[in-house]
Amino acid sequence: MQAQHLVRASDPLSSVLAAERSRYKKLRVDLHGKRFGRLVVLSVAGSRNGSVQWNCACDCGNSTTVCTRQLNCGQTSSCGCYGAERRTFAARAAIVKHGKSKDPIYGIWFNMIRRCERPSHKSFKHYGGRGISVCTEWHSFERFFADMGDRPSDRHSIDRINNDGNYEPGNCRWATMTEQARNRSNSKLLAIFGEEKNVVAWSEDARCAVSYDTFCARLKAGWGPERALTTPNVRGGARVWEAV
Ligand SMILES: [Zn+2]
Repeated sequence: MQAQHLVRASDPLSSVLAAERSRYKKLRVDLHGKRFGRLVVLSVAGSRNGSVQWNCACDCGNSTTVCTRQLNCGQTSSCGCYGAERRTFAARAAIVKHGKSKDPIYGIWFNMIRRCERPSHKSFKHYGGRGISVCTEWHSFERFFADMGDRPSDRHSIDRINNDGNYEPGNCRWATMTEQARNRSNSKLLAIFGEEKNVVAWSEDARCAVSYDTFCARLKAGWGPERALTTPNVRGGARVWEAV
C-alpha cells in the first residue's frame, strides 16, 4: 500500500519515474509507475530472452526484477513475501483463532505442505518429488481443519487413502500408523491360486489360515504368498515366523 505514495506528484521519486518514462517512450509496453499487487514498477532493468525486465518496489520494502509477461498475467504480484505470508502468517492467525497454535495438528498441517513443496525437506522425494501435492484450499489451515476435524487421538496422523493421490478432501483421513501401513499394503496385489488380491482381501479370504497381522508379518519375513496364507499357526504362537 505504502508504495502507492511513490508515484505522488510531490514525491521526488515521481520525477525519476518521469525521466524513466521518457527514456523508454519507445517501449511497446510501458509499465512505469504501474502497480501489480504489492509491486510498483520503477524502472527498466534490462531485457532477457526478448522480454523487458522491470525493477519493482514491493510494499514490504524489498525490491525485485520481474519481466513484463509475469507482471501482466498476474503471475508475480510480490517479491515473494505474499506467498510466504499466506503460508505462515495468515495460517498462524487462523490457528490462534482455533486455539490450535500449540496443538500438534498445526505441525501436521505445516509439515504436510513442507514435504510436498520444499525440495529441501528430508521426505520431499517421497511426496512432492513424486508428484504428491496439497490442494489449494488446504494451504489455509482453517480450511484444512474444517475439512479434517480434530485428530481422534495422539496416535493418529494424516493418511492418504489413495497413496498416489494428493492431500485433498476425500483422499485424507486420520489414521494410526498401523492403519496406514495396512493402507499402503492395500495397494500391492498378491497373486495366489491364480487370483490377484490385495493383502487385506487375502487376509479375509476363506483360505487364509491366520490373522491379518500374522499374514503380513510372514510376507515381510520373506515367506512365499501361498505359504504365508495357508500355513496354520504353530500352537503357542511364539514361533510363527520360524522358517520351515
Ligand atoms: Zn515483498
